[in-house]
Amino acid sequence: PAPAVQMGALQPGRLTGRIRPQLSKEKIEGCHICTLVTPGEPQVLLGKDKAFTYDFVFDLDTWQEQVYSTCVSRLVEGCFEGYNATVLAYGQTGAGKTYTMGTGFDVAMAEEEQGIIPRAIAHLFGGIAERKRRAREQGVAGPEFKVSAQFLELYNEEILDLFDSARDPDARHRRSNIKIHEDANGGIYTTGVTSRLVSSQEELIQCLKQGALSRTTASTQMNVQSSRSHAIFTIHVCQMRLCTRPDLVNEAVTGLPDGTAPSGEYETLTAKFHFVDLAGSERLKRTGATGERAKEGISINCGLLALGNVISALGDQSKKVVHVPYRDSKLTRLLQDSLGGNSQTIMIACVSPSDRDFMETLNTLKYANRAR
Ligand code: ADP
Ligand code: MG
Repeated sequence: PAPAVQMGALQPGRLTGRIRPQLSKEKIEGCHICTLVTPGEPQVLLGKDKAFTYDFVFDLDTWQEQVYSTCVSRLVEGCFEGYNATVLAYGQTGAGKTYTMGTGFDVAMAEEEQGIIPRAIAHLFGGIAERKRRAREQGVAGPEFKVSAQFLELYNEEILDLFDSARDPDARHRRSNIKIHEDANGGIYTTGVTSRLVSSQEELIQCLKQGALSRTTASTQMNVQSSRSHAIFTIHVCQMRLCTRPDLVNEAVTGLPDGTAPSGEYETLTAKFHFVDLAGSERLKRTGATGERAKEGISINCGLLALGNVISALGDQSKKVVHVPYRDSKLTRLLQDSLGGNSQTIMIACVSPSDRDFMETLNTLKYANRAR
Protein backbone atom coordinates (compact mmCIF):
# COMPACT_ATOMS: atom_id res chain seq x y z
CA PRO A 1 0.00 0.00 0.00
CA ALA A 2 1.09 3.56 -0.65
CA PRO A 3 2.55 5.25 2.42
CA ALA A 4 0.17 7.66 4.10
CA VAL A 5 0.97 11.26 3.40
CA GLN A 6 -0.55 13.87 5.60
CA MET A 7 -2.42 16.78 4.17
CA GLY A 8 -1.24 20.26 4.98
CA ALA A 9 1.53 22.40 3.66
CA LEU A 10 4.47 20.95 5.48
CA GLN A 11 4.50 17.49 6.95
CA PRO A 12 5.65 17.05 10.53
CA GLY A 13 9.40 16.97 10.71
CA ARG A 14 9.84 19.23 7.75
CA LEU A 15 10.45 22.73 9.07
CA THR A 16 14.13 23.32 9.27
CA GLY A 17 16.40 26.16 10.32
CA ARG A 18 19.99 26.41 9.21
CA ILE A 19 22.58 28.83 10.52
CA ARG A 20 25.57 29.40 8.27
CA PRO A 21 29.06 29.99 9.68
CA GLN A 22 30.34 33.55 9.97
CA LEU A 23 32.02 34.79 6.80
CA SER A 24 35.60 36.04 7.14
CA LYS A 25 34.40 39.55 6.41
CA GLU A 26 32.06 39.40 9.39
CA LYS A 27 34.84 38.10 11.62
CA ILE A 28 37.22 40.79 10.46
CA GLU A 29 34.65 43.47 11.09
CA GLY A 30 34.08 42.18 14.58
CA CYS A 31 30.51 40.93 14.27
CA HIS A 32 29.33 38.91 17.21
CA ILE A 33 27.38 35.68 16.99
CA CYS A 34 23.83 36.21 18.22
CA THR A 35 22.36 32.76 17.56
CA LEU A 36 22.56 29.79 19.87
CA VAL A 37 21.23 26.30 19.29
CA THR A 38 19.86 24.67 22.42
CA PRO A 39 21.88 21.46 22.89
CA GLY A 40 19.90 18.36 22.00
CA GLU A 41 16.87 20.35 20.88
CA PRO A 42 15.73 21.69 17.52
CA GLN A 43 15.59 25.16 18.98
CA VAL A 44 17.40 28.34 18.07
CA LEU A 45 17.76 31.18 20.52
CA LEU A 46 18.20 34.58 18.92
CA GLY A 47 19.71 37.18 21.20
CA LYS A 48 18.74 36.69 24.82
CA ASP A 49 15.10 35.79 24.71
CA LYS A 50 13.76 34.98 21.26
CA ALA A 51 13.40 31.23 20.98
CA PHE A 52 12.11 29.33 17.94
CA THR A 53 11.49 25.61 17.87
CA TYR A 54 11.37 23.82 14.52
CA ASP A 55 11.57 20.21 13.51
CA PHE A 56 15.28 20.44 12.85
CA VAL A 57 17.81 23.14 13.52
CA PHE A 58 21.30 22.94 12.06
CA ASP A 59 23.99 24.96 13.74
CA LEU A 60 26.82 26.68 11.91
CA ASP A 61 29.12 23.66 11.79
CA THR A 62 26.66 21.31 10.07
CA TRP A 63 27.84 19.47 6.98
CA GLN A 64 25.89 19.53 3.75
CA GLU A 65 25.60 15.73 3.92
CA GLN A 66 23.80 15.92 7.26
CA VAL A 67 21.25 18.42 5.97
CA TYR A 68 20.62 16.17 2.98
CA SER A 69 20.29 12.90 4.83
CA THR A 70 18.12 14.35 7.59
CA CYS A 71 15.67 16.35 5.49
CA VAL A 72 15.77 15.56 1.80
CA SER A 73 16.76 11.94 1.36
CA ARG A 74 13.34 10.51 2.13
CA LEU A 75 11.68 12.90 -0.28
CA VAL A 76 13.67 11.35 -3.12
CA GLU A 77 12.57 7.92 -1.91
CA GLY A 78 8.99 9.22 -2.06
CA CYS A 79 9.46 10.19 -5.72
CA PHE A 80 9.97 6.49 -6.50
CA GLU A 81 6.48 5.90 -5.10
CA GLY A 82 4.89 8.71 -7.06
CA TYR A 83 4.90 11.50 -4.50
CA ASN A 84 5.73 15.06 -5.46
CA ALA A 85 8.25 16.88 -3.32
CA THR A 86 9.30 20.47 -2.80
CA VAL A 87 12.25 21.96 -1.00
CA LEU A 88 12.05 25.70 -0.32
CA ALA A 89 15.08 27.69 0.78
CA TYR A 90 14.05 30.94 2.44
CA GLY A 91 16.12 33.75 3.93
CA GLN A 92 17.81 37.08 3.39
CA THR A 93 20.46 37.49 0.70
CA GLY A 94 23.73 36.03 1.94
CA ALA A 95 22.12 33.68 4.45
CA GLY A 96 23.09 30.51 2.57
CA LYS A 97 20.08 29.59 0.39
CA THR A 98 22.09 28.96 -2.77
CA TYR A 99 24.85 27.18 -0.86
CA THR A 100 22.32 24.92 0.85
CA MET A 101 20.35 24.21 -2.30
CA GLY A 102 23.32 23.84 -4.62
CA THR A 103 21.86 26.14 -7.26
CA GLY A 104 25.11 28.03 -7.64
CA PHE A 105 27.51 27.68 -10.47
CA ASP A 106 30.89 26.78 -9.09
CA VAL A 107 33.45 24.86 -11.10
CA ALA A 108 35.82 24.19 -8.25
CA MET A 109 33.50 22.98 -5.53
CA ALA A 110 34.66 20.20 -3.23
CA GLU A 111 32.35 17.21 -3.19
CA GLU A 112 31.54 17.59 0.51
CA GLU A 113 30.41 21.16 -0.18
CA GLN A 114 27.81 20.11 -2.72
CA GLY A 115 24.32 21.23 -1.92
CA ILE A 116 20.98 19.49 -1.95
CA ILE A 117 20.32 19.31 -5.71
CA PRO A 118 23.50 17.48 -6.78
CA ARG A 119 22.99 15.06 -3.89
CA ALA A 120 19.37 14.44 -4.85
CA ILE A 121 20.43 13.83 -8.45
CA ALA A 122 23.02 11.26 -7.37
CA HIS A 123 20.49 9.62 -5.06
CA LEU A 124 17.88 9.48 -7.82
CA PHE A 125 20.12 7.83 -10.39
CA GLY A 126 21.58 5.53 -7.73
CA GLY A 127 18.03 4.47 -6.87
CA ILE A 128 17.20 3.86 -10.51
CA ALA A 129 20.28 1.66 -11.02
CA GLU A 130 19.52 -0.21 -7.82
CA ARG A 131 15.92 -0.96 -8.86
CA LYS A 132 17.01 -2.18 -12.29
CA ARG A 133 19.68 -4.39 -10.76
CA ARG A 134 17.21 -5.92 -8.31
CA ALA A 135 14.77 -6.73 -11.13
CA ARG A 136 17.59 -8.36 -13.11
CA GLU A 137 18.53 -10.51 -10.14
CA GLN A 138 14.94 -11.60 -9.68
CA GLY A 139 14.64 -12.32 -13.39
CA VAL A 140 11.65 -10.01 -13.83
CA ALA A 141 11.12 -7.14 -16.24
CA GLY A 142 12.92 -4.09 -14.89
CA PRO A 143 11.28 -0.74 -14.33
CA GLU A 144 11.70 1.93 -17.00
CA PHE A 145 12.41 5.52 -16.06
CA LYS A 146 12.11 8.80 -17.87
CA VAL A 147 13.80 11.70 -16.14
CA SER A 148 13.54 15.27 -17.35
CA ALA A 149 14.32 18.67 -15.91
CA GLN A 150 13.24 22.28 -16.17
CA PHE A 151 14.89 25.35 -14.75
CA LEU A 152 12.87 28.53 -14.36
CA GLU A 153 13.56 31.90 -12.90
CA LEU A 154 10.78 34.12 -11.63
CA TYR A 155 11.53 37.76 -11.78
CA ASN A 156 8.95 40.50 -11.36
CA GLU A 157 6.07 38.07 -11.95
CA GLU A 158 7.75 37.19 -15.25
CA ILE A 159 8.85 33.62 -15.94
CA LEU A 160 12.24 33.11 -17.58
CA ASP A 161 13.53 29.82 -18.95
CA LEU A 162 17.11 29.15 -17.82
CA PHE A 163 17.46 26.28 -20.32
CA ASP A 164 16.55 28.47 -23.25
CA SER A 165 19.98 29.17 -24.70
CA ALA A 166 18.58 31.46 -27.36
CA ARG A 167 17.17 33.66 -24.66
CA ASP A 168 17.27 37.32 -25.39
CA PRO A 169 19.21 39.05 -22.62
CA ASP A 170 16.55 41.72 -22.77
CA ALA A 171 13.84 39.14 -22.26
CA ARG A 172 12.47 40.99 -19.30
CA HIS A 173 11.17 43.67 -21.62
CA ARG A 174 9.14 41.19 -23.62
CA ARG A 175 6.29 39.05 -22.48
CA SER A 176 7.47 35.50 -22.15
CA ASN A 177 5.27 32.90 -23.85
CA ILE A 178 5.46 30.60 -20.86
CA LYS A 179 2.04 29.78 -19.48
CA ILE A 180 0.88 28.01 -16.36
CA HIS A 181 -2.10 25.65 -16.72
CA GLU A 182 -4.16 23.43 -14.49
CA ASP A 183 -5.45 20.05 -15.68
CA ALA A 184 -8.74 18.39 -14.75
CA ASN A 185 -7.17 16.70 -11.73
CA GLY A 186 -5.74 19.91 -10.33
CA GLY A 187 -2.26 19.14 -11.66
CA ILE A 188 -0.19 22.15 -12.65
CA TYR A 189 1.82 22.13 -15.86
CA THR A 190 3.58 24.71 -17.97
CA THR A 191 3.76 25.27 -21.71
CA GLY A 192 6.55 27.02 -23.57
CA VAL A 193 9.20 25.75 -21.17
CA THR A 194 12.30 23.81 -22.28
CA SER A 195 12.29 20.31 -20.86
CA ARG A 196 15.58 18.39 -20.92
CA LEU A 197 15.30 14.64 -21.12
CA VAL A 198 18.35 13.14 -19.41
CA SER A 199 19.64 9.61 -19.06
CA SER A 200 22.40 9.96 -16.51
CA GLN A 201 23.48 11.74 -13.37
CA GLU A 202 26.26 13.52 -15.26
CA GLU A 203 23.87 14.82 -17.88
CA LEU A 204 21.50 16.25 -15.28
CA ILE A 205 24.35 17.85 -13.32
CA GLN A 206 25.49 19.40 -16.58
CA CYS A 207 22.02 20.88 -17.10
CA LEU A 208 22.00 22.27 -13.59
CA LYS A 209 25.37 23.94 -14.06
CA GLN A 210 24.43 25.35 -17.41
CA GLY A 211 21.22 26.82 -16.06
CA ALA A 212 22.94 28.26 -13.01
CA LEU A 213 25.55 29.86 -15.24
CA SER A 214 22.84 31.23 -17.48
CA ARG A 215 21.16 32.75 -14.41
CA THR A 216 24.38 34.50 -13.43
CA THR A 217 25.24 35.84 -16.89
CA ALA A 218 21.70 36.86 -17.69
CA SER A 219 21.41 38.83 -14.49
CA THR A 220 24.71 40.58 -15.19
CA GLN A 221 23.60 41.46 -18.71
CA MET A 222 20.24 42.64 -17.52
CA ASN A 223 21.76 44.48 -14.60
CA VAL A 224 19.46 42.55 -12.36
CA GLN A 225 20.43 41.07 -9.05
CA SER A 226 19.71 37.38 -9.03
CA SER A 227 18.96 37.78 -5.32
CA ARG A 228 15.70 39.42 -6.40
CA SER A 229 14.47 36.41 -8.32
CA HIS A 230 13.27 32.95 -7.42
CA ALA A 231 15.05 30.02 -9.09
CA ILE A 232 13.04 26.82 -9.51
CA PHE A 233 14.82 23.65 -10.62
CA THR A 234 12.34 20.86 -11.32
CA ILE A 235 12.97 17.17 -11.92
CA HIS A 236 10.17 15.06 -13.41
CA VAL A 237 10.39 11.33 -12.81
CA CYS A 238 8.19 8.98 -14.77
CA GLN A 239 8.42 5.32 -13.87
CA MET A 240 6.81 2.30 -15.48
CA ARG A 241 7.10 -0.78 -13.35
CA LEU A 242 5.47 -4.11 -12.75
CA CYS A 243 2.63 -3.71 -10.31
CA THR A 244 3.77 -4.73 -6.88
CA ARG A 245 0.39 -6.52 -6.38
CA PRO A 246 -1.12 -7.24 -9.82
CA ASP A 247 -4.10 -8.92 -8.15
CA LEU A 248 -5.00 -5.62 -6.51
CA VAL A 249 -4.83 -3.48 -9.64
CA ASN A 250 -8.45 -2.43 -9.46
CA GLU A 251 -8.39 -1.57 -5.81
CA ALA A 252 -5.11 0.18 -6.27
CA VAL A 253 -6.74 2.66 -8.63
CA THR A 254 -8.30 4.44 -5.71
CA GLY A 255 -5.51 3.78 -3.24
CA LEU A 256 -2.64 5.16 -5.25
CA PRO A 257 -1.47 8.76 -5.18
CA ASP A 258 -2.46 11.23 -7.90
CA GLY A 259 -0.69 10.76 -11.18
CA THR A 260 -0.62 6.99 -10.79
CA ALA A 261 -2.42 5.03 -13.44
CA PRO A 262 -2.18 1.25 -13.40
CA SER A 263 -2.53 -0.42 -16.79
CA GLY A 264 -2.56 -4.17 -17.01
CA GLU A 265 0.14 -5.46 -14.77
CA TYR A 266 2.22 -2.36 -15.23
CA GLU A 267 1.77 0.85 -13.37
CA THR A 268 3.02 4.29 -14.27
CA LEU A 269 4.07 6.56 -11.46
CA THR A 270 4.95 10.17 -11.99
CA ALA A 271 6.50 12.58 -9.54
CA LYS A 272 7.97 16.02 -9.74
CA PHE A 273 10.53 17.44 -7.43
CA HIS A 274 10.84 21.22 -7.13
CA PHE A 275 13.95 22.78 -5.66
CA VAL A 276 13.23 26.42 -4.94
CA ASP A 277 15.96 28.93 -4.20
CA LEU A 278 13.71 31.80 -3.14
CA ALA A 279 14.42 35.48 -3.63
CA GLY A 280 16.12 37.30 -0.76
CA SER A 281 13.59 37.99 1.97
CA GLU A 282 15.11 41.29 3.09
CA ARG A 283 12.84 44.27 3.20
CA LEU A 284 13.40 46.78 0.48
CA LYS A 285 14.69 50.03 1.92
CA ARG A 286 12.05 52.67 1.52
CA THR A 287 14.48 55.42 0.66
CA GLY A 288 15.96 55.36 -2.82
CA ALA A 289 13.67 52.65 -4.04
CA THR A 290 12.00 54.26 -6.97
CA GLY A 291 10.89 53.23 -10.46
CA GLU A 292 12.05 49.83 -11.65
CA ARG A 293 13.71 48.92 -8.37
CA ALA A 294 10.67 49.73 -6.33
CA LYS A 295 8.58 47.59 -8.65
CA GLU A 296 11.01 44.71 -8.19
CA GLY A 297 10.81 44.99 -4.46
CA ILE A 298 7.06 45.00 -4.39
CA SER A 299 6.87 42.13 -6.82
CA ILE A 300 9.24 39.89 -4.93
CA ASN A 301 7.54 40.61 -1.68
CA CYS A 302 4.35 39.58 -3.44
CA GLY A 303 5.74 36.09 -4.20
CA LEU A 304 7.09 35.55 -0.69
CA LEU A 305 4.01 37.07 0.87
CA ALA A 306 1.71 34.83 -1.17
CA LEU A 307 3.83 31.80 -0.28
CA GLY A 308 3.58 32.63 3.42
CA ASN A 309 -0.20 33.01 3.13
CA VAL A 310 -0.62 29.77 1.21
CA ILE A 311 1.52 27.82 3.63
CA SER A 312 -0.27 29.09 6.69
CA ALA A 313 -3.70 28.56 5.08
CA LEU A 314 -2.76 24.95 4.28
CA GLY A 315 -1.30 24.35 7.69
CA ASP A 316 -4.35 25.68 9.47
CA GLN A 317 -6.47 22.55 9.30
CA SER A 318 -8.46 23.40 12.39
CA LYS A 319 -10.08 26.40 10.73
CA LYS A 320 -10.87 24.42 7.58
CA VAL A 321 -9.70 27.24 5.36
CA VAL A 322 -11.59 26.97 2.10
CA HIS A 323 -9.73 29.59 0.12
CA VAL A 324 -6.04 29.03 -0.41
CA PRO A 325 -4.69 32.07 -2.28
CA TYR A 326 -2.55 30.26 -4.86
CA ARG A 327 -3.40 32.72 -7.58
CA ASP A 328 -1.91 35.70 -5.80
CA SER A 329 1.51 35.13 -7.37
CA LYS A 330 3.22 33.17 -10.15
CA LEU A 331 5.33 31.44 -7.53
CA THR A 332 2.40 29.96 -5.61
CA ARG A 333 0.54 29.20 -8.84
CA LEU A 334 3.51 27.21 -10.15
CA LEU A 335 3.84 25.35 -6.88
CA GLN A 336 0.08 24.92 -6.36
CA ASP A 337 0.02 21.12 -6.67
CA SER A 338 3.32 20.77 -4.89
CA LEU A 339 2.36 22.37 -1.60
CA GLY A 340 0.13 20.09 0.39
CA GLY A 341 -1.90 17.16 -0.93
CA ASN A 342 0.16 14.52 -2.65
CA SER A 343 3.37 16.32 -1.92
CA GLN A 344 6.04 16.31 0.68
CA THR A 345 7.26 19.81 1.29
CA ILE A 346 10.01 21.12 3.47
CA MET A 347 11.17 24.64 4.12
CA ILE A 348 14.70 25.47 5.13
CA ALA A 349 14.98 28.87 6.77
CA CYS A 350 18.55 30.05 6.23
CA VAL A 351 19.99 32.63 8.61
CA SER A 352 23.22 34.43 9.36
CA PRO A 353 24.67 34.09 12.86
CA SER A 354 25.97 37.68 13.00
CA ASP A 355 24.46 40.39 15.16
CA ARG A 356 24.39 42.88 12.31
CA ASP A 357 21.76 40.67 10.64
CA PHE A 358 19.70 40.33 13.81
CA MET A 359 16.52 41.96 12.45
CA GLU A 360 16.49 40.01 9.18
CA THR A 361 17.21 36.79 11.05
CA LEU A 362 14.29 37.54 13.35
CA ASN A 363 12.03 38.17 10.34
CA THR A 364 13.13 34.91 8.72
CA LEU A 365 12.57 32.85 11.85
CA LYS A 366 9.13 34.42 12.33
CA TYR A 367 8.14 33.82 8.71
CA ALA A 368 9.12 30.17 8.95
CA ASN A 369 7.19 29.87 12.18
CA ARG A 370 3.95 30.55 10.28
CA ALA A 371 4.50 27.26 8.47
CA ARG A 372 4.26 25.23 11.65
P1 ADP B 1 22.10 33.38 -0.52
O1 ADP B 1 21.91 32.46 -1.66
O2 ADP B 1 21.11 33.15 0.58
O3 ADP B 1 22.19 34.80 -0.93
P2 ADP B 1 24.71 32.15 -0.41
O4 ADP B 1 24.31 30.73 -0.47
O5 ADP B 1 25.21 32.76 -1.65
O6 ADP B 1 23.51 33.03 0.17
O7 ADP B 1 25.76 32.29 0.78
C1 ADP B 1 26.48 33.48 1.05
C2 ADP B 1 27.93 33.14 1.34
O8 ADP B 1 28.03 32.33 2.49
C3 ADP B 1 28.58 32.37 0.21
O9 ADP B 1 29.91 32.79 0.10
C4 ADP B 1 28.53 30.93 0.70
O10 ADP B 1 29.55 30.15 0.17
C5 ADP B 1 28.67 31.09 2.20
N1 ADP B 1 27.95 30.05 2.94
C6 ADP B 1 26.61 29.96 3.08
N2 ADP B 1 26.27 28.90 3.85
C7 ADP B 1 27.41 28.29 4.19
C8 ADP B 1 27.74 27.14 4.97
N3 ADP B 1 26.79 26.40 5.57
N4 ADP B 1 29.04 26.81 5.12
C9 ADP B 1 30.00 27.55 4.53
N5 ADP B 1 29.77 28.64 3.80
C10 ADP B 1 28.51 29.03 3.61
MG1 MG C 1 21.58 33.03 -3.65
